[in-house]
Amino acid sequence: MTHTANSPASDRSGMCCLVKGQVAFAGSGPGDPDLLTLKVARDLQEADVILFDRLVSSEILALAGAQTLLEDVGKEGFGPSMSQAEICARMTAHALAGKKVVRLKSGDPTIFGRLDEELTACEEAGVAYQIMPGITAASAAVAAIGQSLTQRGRNSSVRFLTGHDMRGFADQDWAALARPGEVAAIYMGKKSARFVQGRLIMHGANRATPVTIVENASRADQRVLETTLDHLPMDLAEAGFDGPALTFFGLAPRQSAAALYDLNMELA
Ligand code: SAH
Repeated sequence: MTHTANSPASDRSGMCCLVKGQVAFAGSGPGDPDLLTLKVARDLQEADVILFDRLVSSEILALAGAQTLLEDVGKEGFGPSMSQAEICARMTAHALAGKKVVRLKSGDPTIFGRLDEELTACEEAGVAYQIMPGITAASAAVAAIGQSLTQRGRNSSVRFLTGHDMRGFADQDWAALARPGEVAAIYMGKKSARFVQGRLIMHGANRATPVTIVENASRADQRVLETTLDHLPMDLAEAGFDGPALTFFGLAPRQSAAALYDLNMELA
């Protein structure tokens, strides 16, 4: 749905084509351009301006139209290179100037994407917007290890959490997560690995719980690190990952999960 009274005709999903003077908040997916939705791929072609984040891959930006202005508003790590206020100001200024604006965020814009601040800015400026979903990093990363995020008999829910928030390490319901069989997809989890490990062990998690880290999921340089809660910080430091990485707590890559199951059966 677009969010003002003068909405354009929208299609079945409530989303429509780009409209002059409006902002489309679009998900670029995890990096592989083939994982873009058709809608977002079309919007990249048609946009007058694309304001993009740091993790949006160059292959995806290459799909922008010849007339499209590309603006890098990327935030490096935890220190913004452009303030949120400045991003909001540029985005709404372009829309108010009558441009077709795409605000391109990595993965899905609704997951750890600071979307709400930008929606509020649009509302305050009287700019209409629509949200175009994308494939989130957890979906790409779990596919890379041949696992399911949920599994009958193992976990009927999955948490998406962040190791870090704007105030520092993010607190979570560690006691609930520490129970056997729980699964979490941890975003921005590299710097907080030791903190997360400490909290989970403090709340009784089994040190042998599998932990898998997928760096650059869906990209040509994707790497997978298989470890346990006990060895997480050490193994992560050794791996020296410098790309975006998704940490799965409670999931091993499929083959290892099977081997562990066999071992447990033998021991039972
Ligand atoms: N909105 C994004 C998440 C933004 S937060 C989404 O839905 O995916 C940024 C974090 O996402 C990174 O620190 C990393 O944990 C994760 N991430 C993004 N792209 C990734 C990729 N290709 N592979 C692994 N993790 C990724």
